[in-house]
Order: sequence, then structure tokens, then C-alpha cells
Amino acid sequence: MSKKHIKHWNLIVVGGGASGMMAAITAAGCGAHVLLLEQKEQLGKKLLATGNGRCNFTNADMELTHFHGEDALIQNALDCFSLEDTLNFFHKIGILPKQKNGYYYPNSEQAASVVSALEAELARRDVAVHTKAQVTKIVPLPSGFRVYTAEDSYVSDTVLLAVGLLAAPKLGSNGSFFDGIKELGHHFTPIVPALCGFYCEGTDFKAVSGVRAEGRITLYIDGEPKEAHCGELQFTDYGISGIPVFQISRLASAALKQNRQVQASLHFLAGMEKDELQKELLFRKEKLAEETAEQGLNGLLAAKLIPAILKKAEISHKTQMRKLSEEELERLAAVLTDFTLDLTKARDYEFAQICAGGIRTEEIDIKTLESRYLSGLFFSGELLDVDGICGGYNLQWAWSSGFLAGKSAAQRLGIKNHDKDQSTETSGRT
Ligand SMILES: Cc1cc2nc3c(=O)[nH]c(=O)nc-3n(C[C@H](O)[C@H](O)[C@H](O)COP(=O)(O)OP(=O)(O)OC[C@H]3O[C@@H](n4cnc5c(N)ncnc54)[C@H](O)[C@@H]3O)c2cc1C
Repeated sequence: MSKKHIKHWNLIVVGGGASGMMAAITAAGCGAHVLLLEQKEQLGKKLLATGNGRCNFTNADMELTHFHGEDALIQNALDCFSLEDTLNFFHKIGILPKQKNGYYYPNSEQAASVVSALEAELARRDVAVHTKAQVTKIVPLPSGFRVYTAEDSYVSDTVLLAVGLLAAPKLGSNGSFFDGIKELGHHFTPIVPALCGFYCEGTDFKAVSGVRAEGRITLYIDGEPKEAHCGELQFTDYGISGIPVFQISRLASAALKQNRQVQASLHFLAGMEKDELQKELLFRKEKLAEETAEQGLNGLLAAKLIPAILKKAEISHKTQMRKLSEEELERLAAVLTDFTLDLTKARDYEFAQICAGGIRTEEIDIKTLESRYLSGLFFSGELLDVDGICGGYNLQWAWSSGFLAGKSAAQRLGIKNHDKDQSTETSGRT
């Protein structure tokens, strides 16, 4: 029978992002009749935007420390579908992996090729895909579920939710099914934007906007240092951004939500310790004695930053270098190594790459990703309370959890063919 006319499915996957596609491919590879429902007009819209359109789909360093969430939950999914499995799977569907500093991209450096390859695999697996199909309600039946969209309803033995959270809502994940999830009896831990920039106070951001500086950021919460990351710090007209800022964003965002004091200390010469820097400043005082303080710092850091540094150190930019007192030099060194900003607000969901938070881990069986409340209901991807740092970890979580949930759903149906090679074999289901 043509799939078009099937109204009773073995598995309905809700959400055609990275994780939902992987789950559907896996379950169909095990032999399940799978319907994938996606509310947008196409699958994988967010995936297309990943890695600046190049899709950093995993990372060579799969240490658990790069993820946030329940360790056993994350480890179990990674054991089930590892980095190696991910590389093999993508290679089998045509994506030749290319590694740059541990970050894996498709050799094409085009996220679109990853989406096309997944779509082709869904078709080979005979997964029915309905786009522009927003799921509005799921009703548990004595056996299975009835799934409603605005236009239709379907019956399925099992359901897998991979609807994401709230990051980049224009690309799909907009929380449209959160109430439905709550009606099914599940709860969320607090959701906050992460891998995002921050609105800040503490300097004239309009004046320094556009500056990119290699440095180190240390996050302070209620005056306590929490974590530090090096890399390219970016100043914008609202505050700070850039990869090291993204890396502290999860903790910072959660602390702001709890109304705690959140500060960042920026070290602009991360390769230099304070005493070394003091020597450098003394050297400049001697060699550039007749220059103004502004000219005396030229070449040490981005020109646009110099007035901001001098202002924070309370030194007039016109002061001659030779006139700088020992105390002023110390203040200058202190500001260059500890430029403090108050973080006032995380950027909106629209500008966040991911969200932290999600379905409470204690409500799911971490071995199968099945609901502890409703047999036959599974979860995967960002919707779960797991997130990763920058570098391909969030997509790895989407693949690993999607695989595990898809395989578990097939197992729940009593479908035996659930080993990795079968379920991700590219030759198509018989
Ligand atoms: C700009 C940007 C760049 C990124 N770059 C990277 C990167 O390089 N590497 C990396 O690892 N991660 C990156 N990420 C994060 C990564 O994209 C996500 O973690 C990952 O896509 C999450 O996958 P998911 O399938 O769980 O959720 P999503 O991709 O959010 O997919 C959820 C899907 O569910 C659909 N949906 C929601 N509600 C319903 C409903 N009611 N009915 C039907 N469908 C529904 C949505 O439309 C959406 O398509 C980036 C994110 C962004 C925004």
C-alpha cells in the first residue's frame, strides 16, 4: 500500500530537525513504518544555518565535559551512537567528513549538502514526510496515540518528540508544542538562551562596536569566578559576543534568570601575565616618552579599544607617557588584564544558537529516552535537558539521542532489527 494512505503508523516523529530526521531514519531502518511531521515548509531549516552555513556536525574530542546535563544520560546516548558511528553514518549517505582543529564539517563545507543527504536517506528508508504539519495535540489511546495537526489526525503505536526548544524560532523551534508536552504530563527545567552574546554595561559599546580582540573572558557570578575561556572576543553595540562568550553563556544566562550578579572580566593580552605587562608598559613609557597615552598604547591592542581602556583606568588620553605615574601604570595593567563588565541580559532567543534546559531528565528512562509516564512516548535532541559547548557538540547530541530514541521506539514495537549497521544501512528497508 502506498504510504500516502496509511493512517496508522508504527512511529510518528514530531519535528524534522537534525534529531527528528536521525530518529526517523533509524527507526525506519529497523523496519518501522514512520511518519515525520514538520511544521515548517521544509526539513532541517536550522541545520542549514549551522556553522555559518557550513555545518560543524561533530567534533573529534567527545569528552563528556563538553556537555551539560546528566552524565549518565549523555554517556549512554554517545555509547549508543558515537563519534565514529556519526562519521560512518554520514560517509555512508555521501557526506565526506573534513576536520579542522577537531571540528568536523562536510567536505563540501555546505550545510545544505547535509540536509539533502538526510532527505535522500529518509526517502530511501521510505519515511513519509509531511511538512507544514504543525502538531497541535497528542492524545494517548489505550494502545498507541492519536496525533493531531491542524488539517489531519493520525494513529501511531509510538510517538517521538524532537521539537527542539526556543533558539532561533524563525528556523522552526518556537515552543508551539510545549503546552501539548505539559498536557502529556511532562515538565521542563528552566529554559534560557545559550551560545549567545550578552547586553552589558561598563563601557561605551557604541564606540568599541566592531572590535574583535583575542583574549580571555572570566565569568563571575556573585563575585565568584566560575569559568574562563580564551578566543576572539567581539564587541558589539549592545555588549559582547564571540566564541569565548558563547562558552560562558549557559552559566551566565541561568544566573541572570535567577537575578544574580553576573560580571565578565576581559583579559586583552591573554598570553601575558600582569608583571610581564607591567614591564611592557614601563618599556613604552621609556621608549615612547613624548607620546600621549593613546599613542603609547598603539600596537598593543585594537586602536578603537584604547580610549575605552584609558577611560576605565582614569587616565587622560592626552597625558604624556613619561608623565604616567607608577600607580597609573598599575591601573592600566589592571584594566588591560581585568576589564570588568556587568552582564545585564542574554541576547534574545532569536540570536541564540541553542537553549539550556528542557524536559526533566528524571521523567525519562535514560537507557531508552522513553517517557517514564507514558509508554511508547520518546524524546530526543535539544528538547531534552542536555546541551553542549560550541564545536559540533549540540549536533552530536541531536544525532546520538535521535539514534537512541529511534532505535528504542523500534524495539518497543518488537522490531528486532535494531543493530547500528542495519538501522543506518543506506540500502533501504525491504
Ligand atoms: C545559527 C545556528 C548555528 C548553529 N551551529 C551549530 C554548529 O555548527 N554545530 C552544532 O553542533 N550545533 C549548532 N547549532 C545548534 C544546533 O543546530 C541544534 O542544537 C540542533 O539543530 C538541535 O536539533 P533538534 O533536532 O533537537 O532541534 P531543532 O533543530 O530545533 O528542530 C526541531 C524541529 O521541530 C519542529 N517543530 C517544533 N514544533 C513543532 C510542532 N508542533 N509540530 C511539528 N514540528 C515542530 C521545528 O520546526 C524544527 O524543525 C546552531 C544553531 C543555530 C541557531
